[in-house]
Amino acid sequence: MAIDFETPKPILQMQAVLKTVAVEMMRSKSRYFDEHEREIPWEYIEFMHAAMRSVGGVHLAPKEDKANDDHGQPRHPPIGYQLLASQIEMLAWGDVGMYLTTPGGGLGAAAVQAAGSVEQRAKFLARFGGDKPTFAAMSMTEPGAGSDTSAIRTKAVLDKKNNEWVLNGEKIFVTAGDKSFTGYEKLGKGFIVVWASIDPSVGHAGMRAFVVESGTPGMQIVKLEHKMGIRVSDTAAVSLVDVRVPFDNILGSPTVEKSTTGFKGAMATFDATRPLVAASGIGVARAALEFLKDKLNENGISIRYGLPRQKLTNIEREVIDMEIMLKSAWLMVVKAVWMADNNKPNVLESSMCKVKAGDVTTKITQRVVEILGPLGYSREFLAEKWFRDAKITDIYEGTGQINRLVVARHILGYGGTELR
Ligand SMILES: Cc1cc2nc3c(=O)[nH]c(=O)nc-3n(C[C@H](O)[C@H](O)[C@H](O)COP(=O)(O)OP(=O)(O)OC[C@H]3O[C@@H](n4cnc5c(N)ncnc54)[C@H](O)[C@@H]3O)c2cc1C
Repeated sequence: MAIDFETPKPILQMQAVLKTVAVEMMRSKSRYFDEHEREIPWEYIEFMHAAMRSVGGVHLAPKEDKANDDHGQPRHPPIGYQLLASQIEMLAWGDVGMYLTTPGGGLGAAAVQAAGSVEQRAKFLARFGGDKPTFAAMSMTEPGAGSDTSAIRTKAVLDKKNNEWVLNGEKIFVTAGDKSFTGYEKLGKGFIVVWASIDPSVGHAGMRAFVVESGTPGMQIVKLEHKMGIRVSDTAAVSLVDVRVPFDNILGSPTVEKSTTGFKGAMATFDATRPLVAASGIGVARAALEFLKDKLNENGISIRYGLPRQKLTNIEREVIDMEIMLKSAWLMVVKAVWMADNNKPNVLESSMCKVKAGDVTTKITQRVVEILGPLGYSREFLAEKWFRDAKITDIYEGTGQINRLVVARHILGYGGTELR
């Protein structure tokens, strides 16, 4: 199947709708929520929940058209992930922190989707279509375990008598952890997927994910981070002391195999979500670049696209180069999500597009602030905020360095122990 470079119609239509949301509900509130870090954007959350329900989906992306043609092929190529990436790019163009407060399963549901059984998906994911907006989160990072996930110390021990898992440990930097766990009246019952070891002696092979429902005794939000960017998105630290979850809340096999199959669920989650993180960064950088062009225009400088490079001014060349960087990052995202949509393994492409987007978004937002000078640095405009918001693209769901390692391993054919 060939890659079609034309943006599919459903995506164009959805982008038009979401642009209105981005302008009316996000941009207009960006500064307020940046300065009121602990406030929850209820209006946006409730609007998005109602909007998503009204189009029949509990996620941003609608169901795919499965009708087949005369040759038994789907009439339209599946575009679920491509649509999602485009939606996220547009919402992040509005405000990436607020986009992270969009209700739905988030990383938690992605983990259930990737590592859970059919029954578990049915049981845990149905809630997102309920009356109230509902959140889920995923916690892997610990004070002593970030990039090196084999250092995870949270433990899950089976209490055979009660048929329950007992979890103990500490998790940090859990995106949407508060909204997923605290039990706000306006929200439905969420959950946090907690990665823990059922056998620390076997490293990754013993790693499993557990669904911990909102309000489960023993689990506590102990801290909410104050952050440089994406400040409206809550980032929680969580403690787990003798947290009991039903036996069936384990995602994947309850026994240890001498392989890394347990951890494959986590990796599969990231294959699906890294291109989406890349898309969100690209939305931020596009916002900054468009703002720069608007400001240049206001000062009588427009980019003369048709001219040979040597006839352009330095600023024109810079803007064009940034547009090239942004477009190439976006095309890498499109390739990664196209592969996901067509059930092709995309580990390499997912990590590649995340590396590229992390680099490009931090460079562009920084350069925009520099070119604008005092206007870029001033809190009167959002350029400085986009500069702060962009950096996270290069940190969560695998830092730039870690994703470069993943890319190198895949290209060179090395395993995790040979190249680290
Ligand atoms: C706002 C925010 C939200 C987050 N949300 C979540 C979440 O929802 N769930 C979750 O589980 N985690 C989350 N995280 C955690 C995030 O995924 C980790 O911060 C990230 O994986 C890096 O881990 P670390 O902070 O421990 O850094 P470290 O692993 O200690 O790395 C520090 C530096 O060393 C580099 N480094 C590490 N190992 C290598 C290597 N082998 N080669 C080269 N360089 C290396 C890293 O790239 C980094 O630059 C979030 C973080 C932030 C800031």
